[in-house]
Amino acid sequence: MKLTIGHLYPDLLNLYGDRGNIQCFSKRLEWRGMEAEVIPFLSGDSIDFSRLDIVLLGGGSDREQELVCGYLQDIKEDFKNYVENNGVVLAVCGGFQLLGKYYKTRDKLIEGAGILDITTEWEPERLIRNIVLNSPLFDTPVVGFENHGGRTHIGNHTPFGKVFYGLGNTGKSGYEGVIYKNVIATYLHGPLLPKNPHVCDYLLERALQKKYGGDIKLETLPDELEHKANRYITDRYSDKKYVLKETIKRYT
Ligand code: GLN
Repeated sequence: MKLTIGHLYPDLLNLYGDRGNIQCFSKRLEWRGMEAEVIPFLSGDSIDFSRLDIVLLGGGSDREQELVCGYLQDIKEDFKNYVENNGVVLAVCGGFQLLGKYYKTRDKLIEGAGILDITTEWEPERLIRNIVLNSPLFDTPVVGFENHGGRTHIGNHTPFGKVFYGLGNTGKSGYEGVIYKNVIATYLHGPLLPKNPHVCDYLLERALQKKYGGDIKLETLPDELEHKANRYITDRYSDKKYVLKETIKRYT
């Protein structure tokens, strides 16, 4: 079995090791005897979404996002169809914002792809912190690092998780990211997937099921080290010093 992974605009969107997400997808497929093909699409390249099983849109500065915005307008219809047809997407930070309707920066309005019904507005105080989430998708918490000036309002969308420690979409709502069909959109860098192999396997499984049939289940890998690191960071923040009061409860 083989998955083709499209890395959108790595020349512009690649903050805090977001490329590590691609390596994680590839390695975890290869370790299970499967094949991964990675296609980087640089700004201006045309993109045939019908060839892709997974799409990664990483994070970037406001300036880079403004540049990407122009290219996105050319592909947004195809990208939207891919998502509506249950295509798998991981969008991180700037990439998360760009899936929405717009990102209003200090002095510009950056138009998004309009795939998610969300909007983002810049505020001068950046939200920078390690972050721990409880996601309804997983028993294990999701851990990462956030650094954004944008505040994302997700309307009626389902959040990726509830903030256990950290700031999340707006710093106030107590929620982080969006889950929509087979899209996970999140502020979590780090990179996200090597720190959270359960999130990686969830996306891989969705992509494999879509391509090869509904009942594919990935075999487990020896992730003891990753689980240990996850427990360490979750325990470190369970002193609740910075935890938003109303978000301490775990999903059960
Ligand atoms: N430029 C965006 C913001 O500051 C996204 C940053 C990022 O991708 N880390 O909100």
